[in-house]
Amino acid sequence: MSDSFDVAVIGLGAMGSAAVAHLASRGCRVVGLEAHYPAHALSSSHGDSRLIRLGYFEDPSYVPLLRRAYQNWRMLERQVRETLLTVTGVLEMGRPDSTIVSGARAACELHGLPFQILDPDQVQARYPVFALDDDDVGLFEPEGGYLRPERAVMAHLKVAGQAGAVLRFGEAVAAIEPDDAGVTIVSAFERLRARTVIVATGPWIAQLVPQLRGIAQPIRQVVAWYQPADAFVTLPERMPVFLRDEGAAGSYFGFPSIGTDGFKVGKHAHFHEPIDPNLPNPPVNDTDTALLDGFAHRRLPGAAGVRAGSTTCRYTMLPGEDFLMDLHPSEKRVIVASPCSGHGFKFASVAGEILADLATQGGTALPIELFSFAALEQKRRTSRVD
Ligand SMILES: Cc1cc2nc3c(=O)[nH]c(=O)nc-3n(C[C@H](O)[C@H](O)[C@H](O)COP(=O)(O)OP(=O)(O)OC[C@H]3O[C@@H](n4cnc5c(N)ncnc54)[C@H](O)[C@@H]3O)c2cc1C
Repeated sequence: MSDSFDVAVIGLGAMGSAAVAHLASRGCRVVGLEAHYPAHALSSSHGDSRLIRLGYFEDPSYVPLLRRAYQNWRMLERQVRETLLTVTGVLEMGRPDSTIVSGARAACELHGLPFQILDPDQVQARYPVFALDDDDVGLFEPEGGYLRPERAVMAHLKVAGQAGAVLRFGEAVAAIEPDDAGVTIVSAFERLRARTVIVATGPWIAQLVPQLRGIAQPIRQVVAWYQPADAFVTLPERMPVFLRDEGAAGSYFGFPSIGTDGFKVGKHAHFHEPIDPNLPNPPVNDTDTALLDGFAHRRLPGAAGVRAGSTTCRYTMLPGEDFLMDLHPSEKRVIVASPCSGHGFKFASVAGEILADLATQGGTALPIELFSFAALEQKRRTSRVD
């Protein structure tokens, strides 16, 4: 048996990297084990950009965590002297009574967040890239923007490493064996001891937490980049990040031109297509690109030029499309972290703090009631996982 640690973190994607950073910064003896390498292409944390916004249409109770997430991202930027979060504002478009527009408005009003409602002419004048229907509106929130996921994962790992965390890559954990005194973590190379373990294995979460089989469902996600016909209108200074509610046809998200490939779009949950996380992602096909091309040409007609690239990624969906961050109900030395459902990245900076609190104090002052096993069980009974 090799070294003994206060906390072992399994999976060093968005959540695990943040957890090791927070734990090591508090002086814990922490080891992080990652099966592959940081932000690799089979994880959920690659692809250049992730939205961040405050007026959360999904549920206003996320807003206090989002405020903390913004603070923590800015603190991380200072620690690594790098820009990770760029504010462009976020434009949320659709019918006034659509889930996204009405939900964002309710969250902004409840929490006193600044926002503006723009009619189609006002949107056209300010952001000529977007095409709205006559009865659409745009809800603009000035604090929305985007994060750089690969850089953010690396930044957390850098902070963790500098604070003394032991980080191992290319080491998949095969089993966790909790007992009264701690947990044994078994990989092909070694058996480690830790007082507590955090399982943050994203799409693979059900392999080490079998209670989540059939509940945490990995699905395939596709995004595409378009080289705009007019580059100027898609620069971050002229185009905010956006969400578009298409009613029964689902919702889309997108980013301005950050890199050389142009602006990026995706449809939330894409075709709700379950995948086996142990197999390579099925490649992008014509049906995928037809969906995204159609959206880009319909809703960003002045900008949608050539499709410059596309890629697959993975969501891990939970009932109610919420998160899970809690002590395991029967194994108190095991902490389970599954903040995805397609919208978890922006929370990684605060998830790291929460997971460090759970591991060191057994609880947290941050509001996470929505993410408990008990809440998950309730949602499982009332909602469909797709
Ligand atoms: C296309 C796309 C767009 C998205 N857009 C947004 C957005 O705009 N805003 C937003 O907030 N969120 C967004 N999300 C969601 C967000 O990216 C995820 O919530 C987040 O990346 C999940 O991070 P994670 O750490 O849970 O998982 P991952 O990043 O997948 O990390 C899990 C890690 O665990 C490792 N692992 C697995 N099993 C083992 C094992 N047995 N031993 C050791 N290591 C193991 C894996 O190799 C992996 O690196 C998006 C997701 C996708 C795919």
